Amino acid sequence: MIDPFGRTVSYLRVSVTDRCDLRCVYCMSEDMAFLPKKDLLSLEELDRVCSAFVDMGVRKLRITGGEPLVRRDVITLFESLGRHLKTGALDELTLTTNGTQLAKHAEALKKAGVERINISLDSLDPQRFKTITRWGDHAMVMDGIRAAKDAGLKVKINAVAMKDVNEDEFGDMVAWCGDQGFDLVFIETMPMGDIDGDRTSQYLPLSIVRANLAQRWTLDSIPDTTGGPARYTRCAETGGRVGFITPMTHNFCESCNRVRLTCTGTLFMCLGQEDAADLRAPLRGSEGNELLIDAIKEAIGRKPKGHDFIIDRRHNRPAVPRHMSVTGG
Ligand code: SAM
Ligand code: SF4
Repeated sequence: MIDPFGRTVSYLRVSVTDRCDLRCVYCMSEDMAFLPKKDLLSLEELDRVCSAFVDMGVRKLRITGGEPLVRRDVITLFESLGRHLKTGALDELTLTTNGTQLAKHAEALKKAGVERINISLDSLDPQRFKTITRWGDHAMVMDGIRAAKDAGLKVKINAVAMKDVNEDEFGDMVAWCGDQGFDLVFIETMPMGDIDGDRTSQYLPLSIVRANLAQRWTLDSIPDTTGGPARYTRCAETGGRVGFITPMTHNFCESCNRVRLTCTGTLFMCLGQEDAADLRAPLRGSEGNELLIDAIKEAIGRKPKGHDFIIDRRHNRPAVPRHMSVTGG
């Protein structure tokens, strides 16, 4: 699949639910309204869409949400999609999770063919973690992280950088991740969806984070090997990788290889744009995949050139009205 700007689309992110057991302040409001369950694609339908994408050239699938591991029986989706790894049609099956359910599921994920996993953790301090997630249990997540490591999964920790919230512990996070053998990636807050707070007060450019880290750690730039938007460094002291995802200050759209499917079957061709294609109707419209494949081709044909996020005081409203938990991070 090649888009109008010559980019090959080889990566599909799939949000399998918009629900979550946490309410991170930058992601959701406290009283989020979730989709009625009847609007969701079934796990079998999600498998069908993913498999159509794999047939059309997608080499990497990331399952996300909301919190993917709160969707009932979601492990069966991993197990069925694992068949594409066995045939060699798919290079990687992975997920992004908040880690709360990992103690239960880490081994099954590994068995299904998952090798690497992204776990979101914005603080090493239990009390602060609770404030950021509104009610999360830090110990539960740490158990989950341990279970992932014990199961042999390669762990990458994602931390959203927030001004005056967690910026004082980034140096310690580099130390801890280095110790555990985890990659660490810092993410800038993106203006997606209404939340209860003020985004301009949370926004912290990663150029500042990197400069502050450089006072304690030696971070040498290394070439990006993931094909994603993260810019990586190697920490000389720990040997670990430390990455920075900067949607606000750095435009990574030129090398974008991905599209995103929501749990209701809507395909977003760009995280930062409104344009979308409905795949649920063609999916349900016939037993075979002809209609679905045509709809996917048509959608890829209008993948936009890029996004245009802005957070400033005059535009203190989301650049994109939908929440990250709908499109999947
Ligand atoms: N619940 C899972 C989790 O937290 O890892 C998966 C979904 S979550 C939407 C995916 C990632 O998006 C998380 O790392 C989260 O921190 C990040 N995220 C959510 N809202 C964001 C925002 N407004 N700006 C930047 N990152 C955001
Ligand atoms: Fe849930 Fe992930 Fe959003 Fe936090 S970032 S509220 S864990 S979906």
